[in-house]
Amino acid sequence: MGNGVGNSVFNPAPPEVTRLAPSPTGALHLGNARTFLINWLLARRSGWRILLRIEDLDGPRVKKGAAAELIDDLRWLGMDWDEGPIYQSGRRAAYRKAIEQLLASGAAYPCVCTRGEVERIASAPHAEDGAAVYPGTCRGRFASVEAAQALSGRSPVIRFNTAGQRVSFVDGFAGAVAMDVERSLGDFVIAKGDGTPAYQLAVVVDDAEAGVTQVVRGDDLLDSTPRQILLYRTLGLAMKIPAYHHLPLVVGEDGRRLAKRHGDTRLSYYRRHGVSASRVLELLGCWCGITDAIVADPRGSEGDTEISRWIDRFKLTRVSRSQVLFDGSTDAWLVQSTNSQKE
Ligand code: GLU
Repeated sequence: MGNGVGNSVFNPAPPEVTRLAPSPTGALHLGNARTFLINWLLARRSGWRILLRIEDLDGPRVKKGAAAELIDDLRWLGMDWDEGPIYQSGRRAAYRKAIEQLLASGAAYPCVCTRGEVERIASAPHAEDGAAVYPGTCRGRFASVEAAQALSGRSPVIRFNTAGQRVSFVDGFAGAVAMDVERSLGDFVIAKGDGTPAYQLAVVVDDAEAGVTQVVRGDDLLDSTPRQILLYRTLGLAMKIPAYHHLPLVVGEDGRRLAKRHGDTRLSYYRRHGVSASRVLELLGCWCGITDAIVADPRGSEGDTEISRWIDRFKLTRVSRSQVLFDGSTDAWLVQSTNSQKE
């Protein structure tokens, strides 16, 4: 898309569109902030439109006030967007329609297996995201969602049938990916028992409708992509499959992705402790390949941290191909600036 072939003033190329899609299940931490900043820099450098979408479907995990805080944190770092925020919680009718379409065509089916049963019958130990690979026990078992409910007395989830499905694509950062979805991931959930659409489904419906052509996100979602590509194809949206760029994550000393167990790395925490946006950006700039390293001087280099001035300098090829380490010394470096100001 957007290669300019056959375009003229009468038939201009549609704009490239990306999205920042935070989940308000917690506050923005340094790891998410880095991914969003790379997405923002790439978009501004390439002339893509930016949509802000709040992914607030995960009812029990969504925290009150977190969406407003996320937006505030993004602005504090200097990021902006051209459209939104759009809230997924306001778009349930669109998701329902897609789920109905997949059920009606037989591409999806109701499943009444409990989580425990799935664990026991799983054909492979676990998909990479930790979910058991569901072997399709309920495929073709019920004539309808209502029948599944009546016969089992349970509220069925809806699963996408991955029988024989293989997907390959070339990721803009991670390179070529090929997957036998049935064997590696299994039939995945597109709607929960209470009818809530699952992330995989909602994201495809939203990205397709918004005309998103470029997806930039953490590589913890790399194995979501084959599932999403299958949904695009099956919903008749194959022409809308975006380009994907999956970035290695920021990890703690234990090699696991940055999370609560590594201490408080939320931007709100540093803000509360008087750490300036430019100090945080100095670190993020280094993590985005803008600067080579954070300077040894505990006071930092201060100054060149206006992200609009980084747009021309940003290159995806300078972003580290390996995971980025956050450890005690990174935290100390951030907080040190406030101590040296006080002295
Ligand atoms: N909301 C997801 C997250 O915060 C991102 C989803 C996506 O980029 O597709 O991890």
